[in-house]
Amino acid sequence: MRTSIRTQRFPESIIREMTRVALDVGAINLSQGYPDFPAPQAIKDAAARAIQDDWNQYSVTWGLKPLRDAIADHYRRRYEMDVNPDTDVVVCCGATECMIAAMLGVVNPGDEVVCFEPYYESYIPNCFITQSTPRFVSLRPAADGAWTFDPDELRRVFNAKTKAIIVNSPHNPTGKVFTRDELQLIAELCIAHDVIAITDEIYEFITYDGAQHTPIATLPGMAERTITISGMSKTFSVTGWRLGYAVAPADLMVGVRKAHDFMSVCAATPLQVAGIAMLTLGDDYYRQLREDYAQRREFALEMLREVGFKPVTPEGAYYIMADFSAISDEDDITFGLRMAQEIGVACVPGSPFFSRPERSRNIVRFAFCKKRETLEQARERLQRLKRR
Ligand code: PLP
Repeated sequence: MRTSIRTQRFPESIIREMTRVALDVGAINLSQGYPDFPAPQAIKDAAARAIQDDWNQYSVTWGLKPLRDAIADHYRRRYEMDVNPDTDVVVCCGATECMIAAMLGVVNPGDEVVCFEPYYESYIPNCFITQSTPRFVSLRPAADGAWTFDPDELRRVFNAKTKAIIVNSPHNPTGKVFTRDELQLIAELCIAHDVIAITDEIYEFITYDGAQHTPIATLPGMAERTITISGMSKTFSVTGWRLGYAVAPADLMVGVRKAHDFMSVCAATPLQVAGIAMLTLGDDYYRQLREDYAQRREFALEMLREVGFKPVTPEGAYYIMADFSAISDEDDITFGLRMAQEIGVACVPGSPFFSRPERSRNIVRFAFCKKRETLEQARERLQRLKRR
């Protein structure tokens, strides 16, 4: 084998593979989570202007100073978090790079990292890279439809080797928004076991039915032990710009910044300039974003229910986990591939989100961050499931 032992353990990303399948067979792509509608004109103009104005060289490794100021200000205004732009912020190539930089910054080989399952697939390779062991806590849909976890299962997983817990809320793939009480329990365990919370809050502004996003860093005793991660991809519909940021107390941020420096040097400078424009958009922008996604969610839930899926209603983010056992007794991978190839709608089989395949056998995930026309076309094609 000429490839490293470490990368041999990486899974191929099934999410990105499904996008390739969708392109090959001309399926409507409800697999990977990127919008097919335009980004706001004002920020596209800001990026184009930045290139013309020659913001075309490396920026300071941890991000342009005015962008770090805007990020610190954003956390202060929205969450009353006290963030020093000079020492507590790093701008990376997406939340994805922030997450691996955070892990490299604080996790040692042999440490354990707690992770809720199902999980966003990049957390697991990040454990391989840092030679740490993921310890899973199950999220399950409760009787009222919301996903939840067993507090005792969470308590049991914390031990002397636990270094960090990944808290992704709003959560991909389930759409769960962790409640204040749930975060409080996580916080108590982190404090009791001297554990660092690494968060993924990339969907913080996409919530439904009044669900409230709470950064765990705002809970008592957590600011000093949390690396808070978010970014522009989802809030501003610019997933291809690769712009994300992390904030943490200076003593944690030191390691995160070093890891980032040697991975990517800096995020794209002209896009950082446009990032400043993004963070100064007013509340109306966020209200509209939420309203538009609420409409897409309703449409997508209805579209899935009418052909026999059993979707779990998400409280946040833009995905729906749906049980397909009333439609087919195939496994998730076979069904997912057939959905793309025969029905013409690509979704993601449940497997990449679970460590135990038996939990994902009847589950697929749909992304609904799409134009109305795209969702309407998908609805029409899904009728083919009824005719089989
Ligand atoms: N975190 C979660 C939970 C995601 O769902 C995604 C993208 O789908 C990302 C991170 C990637 O974010 P970014 O584009 O900022 O790297």
